[in-house]
Amino acid sequence: MAKFEGYKDIYVFVEQKNGNIANVGYELISEARKLVKQIPHMNFEVVGVLLGHHIASKANDVIAHGADKVIVVDHELLENYSTQFYTDALTQVINAFKPDSFLTGATVLGRDLAPRVAARLNAGLTADATKIEMDPEKEDEALLLVTRPTFGGNLFGTIICPDTRPQMATIRPNVFSMDPVDPAHEGEVIVFNPSFDDTEAKVVVKEIIEKVVEGIDITKSDILVGAGRGAEDCLDIVEAVAEELGGAMCASRAVVDDGFADKAIQVGQTGKTVRPSLYIACGISGACQHVAGMEKSDMIIAINRDPQAEIFNIANIGIIGDVKEILPLLKEEIKNVKAA
Ligand SMILES: Cc1cc2nc3c(=O)[nH]c(=O)nc-3n(C[C@H](O)[C@H](O)[C@H](O)COP(=O)(O)OP(=O)(O)OC[C@H]3O[C@@H](n4cnc5c(N)ncnc54)[C@H](O)[C@@H]3O)c2cc1C
Repeated sequence: MAKFEGYKDIYVFVEQKNGNIANVGYELISEARKLVKQIPHMNFEVVGVLLGHHIASKANDVIAHGADKVIVVDHELLENYSTQFYTDALTQVINAFKPDSFLTGATVLGRDLAPRVAARLNAGLTADATKIEMDPEKEDEALLLVTRPTFGGNLFGTIICPDTRPQMATIRPNVFSMDPVDPAHEGEVIVFNPSFDDTEAKVVVKEIIEKVVEGIDITKSDILVGAGRGAEDCLDIVEAVAEELGGAMCASRAVVDDGFADKAIQVGQTGKTVRPSLYIACGISGACQHVAGMEKSDMIIAINRDPQAEIFNIANIGIIGDVKEILPLLKEEIKNVKAA
């Protein structure tokens, strides 16, 4: 008899707001597809879980992004995020369908929801993971090896949940890539109706005031020019290069701590995780806490005057020199290429 009788498949919480699905749900579905392919003998599927109100029409998008099934929980009490009702609904979904593992984005919502659900189910949860693998040594179960930074990002710990199901994890947005949409991909939509005890509601949403986001969201920018402490006294030229490339400037924590940049553009373990096509690191040493937030960029160009700088270990192209000399040349060259 299998160790965890009845538990099956990898489930992904598909976060949405006002009907707009956050990319992290699709990123996790793409990663879950890779994981199930590693264990064909287990016959696992990828299942998306969509909670909200008037969101049933979004189920096909989730299937087109790779889910084999989508469980839709559509209820007026789920229109806006509520810790209580989302926890109630998700716990009931998990009790009813028995997922072997359950992945959630490490967003503000996911970080609130996943631990509560895990506590209700007495399940293990690994928070803020950066890597998920299938244990190749286990043949009769799908044991996840979930890696996350620890001790201030100086070490990585791999955590297993061998005794309980589902194995739960939250993963930051942009850690995994998103597979292309396949409108021909077919899947099943299952409607689940939870029961709520709304007489016990403790928090009532009276009004939602949308946060006004100022400046550019660096996680959405396809080209980033990162300023480190070595570029603190020439941030104007870093910004100008970013602008010339049609991208945005971001910064290391040193630059933020020194008061030269806003925390909103900090990249790294305690900042944002980014995955642009091009990341130009200017005067950034390459500390592991910074690298954790940008190492998945497609192309990394590093400019640093220290040939031993750690950043060169992960750069595709390294330029040894002074940013104040190189960046103006780079800007001119980009201009010339654009004009040609
Ligand atoms: C718990 C914890 C969380 C953290 N989270 C983050 C995080 O999210 N993001 C993050 O970035 N850091 C984070 N850090 C800090 C991290 O450890 C480093 O201290 C930080 O990334 C260093 O930033 P830096 O590379 O810009 O500065 P420095 O380490 O000071 O490096 C500056 C670099 O610039 C080069 N340089 C100097 N002048 C020039 C010049 N004129 N031309 C070219 N090169 C030059 C130097 O050779 C050097 O390599 C965290 C640390 C801890 C303990």
